[in-house]
Amino acid sequence: MDTTTLLTYFAKASYFLAAVMFILGIKRMASPVTARKGIVQAGLGMVIATLATFAITGSHNLHLIVLAIVLGVAPTWIWGKKVAITDMPQMVALFNGMGGGSAAAIGAGELLKYAEAGAAPSKITLTLAIVGALIGSISMTGSIIAWAKLDGRMDKRFTFGGQQAFNFIVFAASVVAGLAVVVWKLDTTLIVAFFALALVFGVLMTLPIGGADMPVVISLYNALTGLAVAFEGFVMNNEALIIAGTVVGAAGTLLTQLMAKAMNRPISNVLFSNFGGGGGGEAITGTQKAIEASDAASLLYMAERVIIVPGYGMAVAQAQHKIWELSQQLIKRDKSVKFAIHPVAGRMPGHMNVLLAEAGVPYDLIADMDDINPEFSTCDVAIVIGANDVVNPVAKTDKSSPIYGMPILDVVNARQVIVIKRGKGTGFAGIENALFYADNCKMLYADGQEAANKLIAELKAIDSGGGH
Ligand code: NDP
Repeated sequence: MDTTTLLTYFAKASYFLAAVMFILGIKRMASPVTARKGIVQAGLGMVIATLATFAITGSHNLHLIVLAIVLGVAPTWIWGKKVAITDMPQMVALFNGMGGGSAAAIGAGELLKYAEAGAAPSKITLTLAIVGALIGSISMTGSIIAWAKLDGRMDKRFTFGGQQAFNFIVFAASVVAGLAVVVWKLDTTLIVAFFALALVFGVLMTLPIGGADMPVVISLYNALTGLAVAFEGFVMNNEALIIAGTVVGAAGTLLTQLMAKAMNRPISNVLFSNFGGGGGGEAITGTQKAIEASDAASLLYMAERVIIVPGYGMAVAQAQHKIWELSQQLIKRDKSVKFAIHPVAGRMPGHMNVLLAEAGVPYDLIADMDDINPEFSTCDVAIVIGANDVVNPVAKTDKSSPIYGMPILDVVNARQVIVIKRGKGTGFAGIENALFYADNCKMLYADGQEAANKLIAELKAIDSGGGH
């Protein structure tokens, strides 16, 4: 056996090892206890797959590959270290767009190579290259628009009359151009037209979608990028791409479904309904009743069972450490403390779990929505910190509300509710929250971290006889 064949076998075996590491890594990501290790393991798998590719000689320009890796790794490493957890969805959107773009670029490279050589490969290879390029292109430009919207660089949405019909025409035109490349002519102009149409469609498809739905859209594009990579893997005859792409495609699809289910909205509704602009729903009567930190601390002091409900505002305030410190103060005083997590609290699935884990909250104190909901009726005080939509009872009571049907945490059933938020700002769906007007609800208007600090100080003051 010659050296080239040996090296190719070695590379393929390494791809297999990398694939096993991807799959086991993803499995570990399912639990916050093992998630960090899972991420490192899957990342290591990716490094192995990348290095192994160097062993397959003959087909690469080594200098350019190394240059591309350096140019890619250096800024993203620095950016990844610096990024705030609240900006994570934007970063995921951009990285995902790059994945889609890479798949599209592979497709473009292969198609143009065939066109230049005047030698068409099999129809199956051509079809796979075109499908992968179509999906990858849409995912790239769509992800860039999603990033711009989430990062506040673009108006929440852009709509015009007949938009869906126009979008459909552009999509159909790109499919026709792609079909023409496969069945009619492997022509450079046709290939360029196909890519232009696909790229424009990605932009058009994402423009009308509201900011509130962007995380779902990003997850969907993530799944599409995976598929595109897998298709191009077939074209390049590269097992690592096929496996990594399929795994990302499957995981992304499941995640998208999970998110849509947690909001009780089908994907079609996310893509075509312009959700999240506020308005809608019945008017809410009554007033919001403010409470001072000292009175809130007295309520906590007297309580036996406390449930803490974190939301997006806790992430903004970076209050997870202080909230855990407050919980420890309560536990020290023999109170039962639990954390209730809604599946779409925050801006990413698992957002709250990650923050609480980072603060050192033990996993057995953290409960999922379905498990904790029956416990609110026997809880003395529920503290809502920076959560809004996920505790809004109109989701159950008002059929005209945009969030009607979304499962929520039944915080309103607690004996007393203390809501910590800065003011009267709405949540991401942009609607009023009936909980804030309920008789058993008091509003502690403050930044999340500042409020937690004050509650800790007031609790200690009560102990030392200085409190109420
Ligand atoms: P919301 O976005 O509904 O509400 C957050 C609240 O936090 C606001 O009302 C705001 O009020 C308050 N807040 C902001 N900054 C601070 C601060 N520094 N200190 C204290 N409070 C603050 O959050 P939820 O977590 O309840 O809901 C998540 C929303 O995101 C849902 O609509 C969900 O559907 C959507 N979403 C989530 C996804 C996910 O995967 N997690 C995916 C897609 C969508 P104020 O300005 O008055 O302080």
